[in-house]
Amino acid sequence: MKDLFKRDVAAVSNIMKLRFHPLVAKSAKGVYIEGEDGKQYLDFCSGWGVANTGYAHPKIQKAIEEQLNKLSFASTCSLISEPVVRLAEELIQRMPGDFEKKAWFGLSGSDANEMIYKAIPIYTGKNKIITFVGSYHGQTLGSYSMSGHPMLSKDYGANVIKVPYPYSYRCPFSDKEDECGQFCIKYFEDYILGMAYSPDDIGAMVVETMQCDGGDIPMPKGYLKAVERICRKHNILLIVDDVKIGFGRTGDFFSFEYEGVCPDAVVLGKPIASGQSLSAVVGRKEFLDVETGLHLFTTGGSPVACAAALATIEIIESEKLLENTKRMGEMLMSGLRALMAEFGIIGDVRGRGLIIGVEIVEDKASKKPAPRLAQMISYRAYELGLLFYTVGIYSNVLELMPPLIISEDDVGKALSIIKEAIRDVLEGNFDEAKLEEFSGWGI
Ligand code: PMP
Repeated sequence: MKDLFKRDVAAVSNIMKLRFHPLVAKSAKGVYIEGEDGKQYLDFCSGWGVANTGYAHPKIQKAIEEQLNKLSFASTCSLISEPVVRLAEELIQRMPGDFEKKAWFGLSGSDANEMIYKAIPIYTGKNKIITFVGSYHGQTLGSYSMSGHPMLSKDYGANVIKVPYPYSYRCPFSDKEDECGQFCIKYFEDYILGMAYSPDDIGAMVVETMQCDGGDIPMPKGYLKAVERICRKHNILLIVDDVKIGFGRTGDFFSFEYEGVCPDAVVLGKPIASGQSLSAVVGRKEFLDVETGLHLFTTGGSPVACAAALATIEIIESEKLLENTKRMGEMLMSGLRALMAEFGIIGDVRGRGLIIGVEIVEDKASKKPAPRLAQMISYRAYELGLLFYTVGIYSNVLELMPPLIISEDDVGKALSIIKEAIRDVLEGNFDEAKLEEFSGWGI
């Protein structure tokens, strides 16, 4: 293990690293990853939200193997194949809205958001896009520009206007959730659209319905509906970035369903093909047809990845994963709320379904973010056999995001490890020097 770790340090570029501990993954099954050392790790990050159906699901393996044997590859740019067309039809049929729709396919959340970044000005004839402070939309230039997370937001984005996200725990206007929501909407509507910019220049608003890498912060009730109302009033496209939480993570198939909102397009990625590289944009036909060949990738939307995505949808249905997500999410949430009552360093616990953020602070009164403590807890939990990472604009939020197939036993096990990890760190039973090689988000 040490050897592979050192070889990775020597040979693999740091540009692609976001590391929290030295785990070398050897194999994985269900909700467990086996380390090179033979130890089993309970995965509460699902490989950054990808392994929603767990690892090595037999139906995913079967779908991939059958498709590999039948047609191992065909570039969707220039050839037609059945799994690709079938997946497009399936996604179109699931997307709400009484209008004609189409689907586009790529390889990652970033390239899918890049697609909308290119298509919005061409389709709308308007060059500005609104996004949220704290948002994460990707690492390619356009998706990077739209992002408001401090790791991504510094250098680009001249045509992007970033408005405050309703983060009620730290809202400069009010820490009451409904007041924070009302103030943020008012600021957006009256000042950003009313005074600072002309709505006539704004092509689209791109939103995460729950800010994930920004700190796992759900929107206050009614907020998404208010955003939709404003977009409709000013003829601004509403596009939901569901890359991390679409396909069931919140307990709904699409994350925007809880407010009955109907976006013009949705961006999908991460879990949709259970680990095969696949992203999608599903939305208004005229938008998706804006210019032939505008944004294409040789291996984007491959038949094998699309077959895996069709199997993923089938598993969500047949194993009732939306129901399990809601049930296990409630159990995890109530266990974490109990820990919040016990430990002064847990300032807030929030989330939807099986994506929950635990905000680590120096103390409840000051709310001062404690990113170092959060990182220590994450590392200690890894030593105890539980994997989760830290997120947030201050890097101080423990993100708990297990596969949607998780059982009660494993939720219980995770809760007891989290408790033990916090206790160990607070009692000084953790050597901080271990973090030296692991900068996490580096902020
Ligand atoms: N959108 C959201 C909401 C994300 O969370 C992410 C990744 N964290 C992306 C887009 C980018 O996805 P990818 O890393 O697959 O390019």
